[in-house]
Parts: sequence; structure tokens; C-alpha cells
Amino acid sequence: MDLRVRALETLLADKGYIEPAALDALIDTYQTRVGPRNGARVVARAWVDPAFRDWLLRDATAAIASLGYSGRQGEYMVALENTDAEHHLVVCTLCSCYPWPVLGLPPVWYKSAPYRSRAVADPRGVLADFGVTLPESKALRVWDSTAEVRYLIIPQRPPGSEGLDETQLAELVTRDSMIGTGLALAPGGR
Ligand code: FE
Repeated sequence: MDLRVRALETLLADKGYIEPAALDALIDTYQTRVGPRNGARVVARAWVDPAFRDWLLRDATAAIASLGYSGRQGEYMVALENTDAEHHLVVCTLCSCYPWPVLGLPPVWYKSAPYRSRAVADPRGVLADFGVTLPESKALRVWDSTAEVRYLIIPQRPPGSEGLDETQLAELVTRDSMIGTGLALAPGGR
């Protein structure tokens, strides 16, 4: 795959269809400057600010954009809140649709065929692989991303985090907790 991508890129550049420097800038942007820290700031804000949380659940695209996170692969965002009764898990069964502005580029496993099929066929088994065991009484809902809709999970705020400020709270929000394959970290537990 790596060779095929390089060959394709070389051909497109030789024909003048793409500008290699522009491609490098795009990749650098999403690999190093945009990443899950953006999403973590969104979640932390939702944890401390009930009005923002309501806005996020009502119109995630606008609420997220208000923090400066918008752009390609994030044009239509939906936020889903994990609760005592319900846990959400995100997958793209077709390919690898992912909310770039808040999470950066998807991890390799998110794009793998086993994750994409098992997230639907055996979501509790997938969670177990990630070390997450939910009570049987908790409903598990799986959401299939598409080219149009990208999801951001708001994980449950961990117990013991009451005294933390927004910046400290954001440190507890992992990438996986915003996909639903993980939980927010316990304070001091990183
Ligand atoms: Fe996709």
C-alpha cells in the first residue's frame, strides 16, 4: 500500500495535478498540529459548562467550531454523551470516516477490517479487547460514521475529578474515550 501511494503521488506530481509541498503541509497539519487534544478540550468544556454541553448535544458542529475546530472531515458533527445507562461506540463500517478537526488522523486499528466488522457484530468483545468491561445492564449503541456525519463521544466524567479545572480535565480525555473504545482516565491514573 505504501508503495502504491508513493507511485500515485509521484505520477500526480509529475503531471502537475498536485503540489507536493501542499500535500506535506496538509499531512503535517493533521498529524502534528491537529489531534485528539482538540476533542479533549471540547469534552472538558462540556463537563464544566452545562450550557456548552447542551449546545454540543444540540448542534455539535457549531459548538465545536466556537472553540476554533472546524474544517474538512468535520463539516457535520454529532456529539453523543455516555451515561450510566448508555455507552456509545463509533465505527466506520465502510471505510475510515473520522472527525479530523477534533481527533486528528484515525489510528490504524480504526481503519482495519476486523474492527470495522466486529464493532458491529461483537461490540462488547471489541470493548473487552480494549480492556473495557461494561455492566450488562448498560446499553451499548454502535454508530456508523459516514462521509456526511462524524461522531464525537463525550465520555463520562470520572469520579474524583470534581476539584480539577478545565485544563486538568482535558488531560483525562483520551482519544479512545472519544471513539468509545475507552473511558476517561481516573485522576492521577495516567
Ligand atoms: Fe468511512
